[in-house]
Amino acid sequence: MRNYSRGGEALKVFYSGAYVRPSYAFDTTRKAKWVADSLVAHPIDGVELQEPRAVTAEELADIHDRGYVEAIRTGVPDDLARSQGFMKWNPGVWDAVCAMSGGVVEAVHTAIKEGASGSLSSGLHHARRDSGAGFCTFNGLALGAKAAIKAGVRKVLILDLDAHGGRGTHSIVNLWREVTQLDISVCDFDTAYKPALPGRVVLVRKSQEYQRTIEAYLNVMERNGPFGVCLYNAGMDPFEGSAEGGLEGITAAILRAREQFVFSWCRRTKTPVAFVLAGGYTGPSCTKDELVDLHRLTIEAAANIR
Ligand SMILES: [Zn+2]
Repeated sequence: MRNYSRGGEALKVFYSGAYVRPSYAFDTTRKAKWVADSLVAHPIDGVELQEPRAVTAEELADIHDRGYVEAIRTGVPDDLARSQGFMKWNPGVWDAVCAMSGGVVEAVHTAIKEGASGSLSSGLHHARRDSGAGFCTFNGLALGAKAAIKAGVRKVLILDLDAHGGRGTHSIVNLWREVTQLDISVCDFDTAYKPALPGRVVLVRKSQEYQRTIEAYLNVMERNGPFGVCLYNAGMDPFEGSAEGGLEGITAAILRAREQFVFSWCRRTKTPVAFVLAGGYTGPSCTKDELVDLHRLTIEAAANIR
């Protein structure tokens, strides 16, 4: 039973050291630890880190081609094992993507029971059934939706506010009548798809329209609920300083307001919510600390609705 008022019960955020085990180092394979370390050094009230159970090859075969799952597990063939775009494969890639996928599944189960949860997972929404894409290896959003449906949820909302589109997720879930995808992007990569109605793909080109577009479409979605769970791909790469995906004029303050609106909407509509980190990239205009602070906005807003 969903419940938003369990005073004293922590918001569980899933993370394990395995998330950062790939030898190929870039933000997606490293930042979960940066955020986790920051939560240890500067805790957010009521937030508790928990280690997830890694998913198995068998569970992944629910949404991915078995040959592709084997390629990620073994590194062979190399081109398929690196189809997400990593420069090199090592066994840590398998450990990481199974743990990150497990974190999403546990966050979904926890959200259904407790109202909200999350996982410090990223690199999910471009992954296809039979290959990786756009630095995403396994599609934890599709896997999380499948876990929700198996748990008896009849309507799942996948809310994707990463800068880029969620066409990989669509390529897996497009025939699942339980799933509604709302994808609001600021960059056209992987936005060329049409989800079944009432789902939408919306491309925002002006920062002034960002917040009101999100508010308007979430309010449209409300008429199609109630949803048994919302899987929230809480990308921070719309940030104007993000090295990938950023849109000029989208500031940390706008992203703070976005997170507050999304989690308030979930609370008001009694929609259990499971969030993941998704995109967000360091570069000349975004330091590691700034990126961590952006991702903390999601966790803070989630903690505040409880
Ligand atoms: Zn992105």
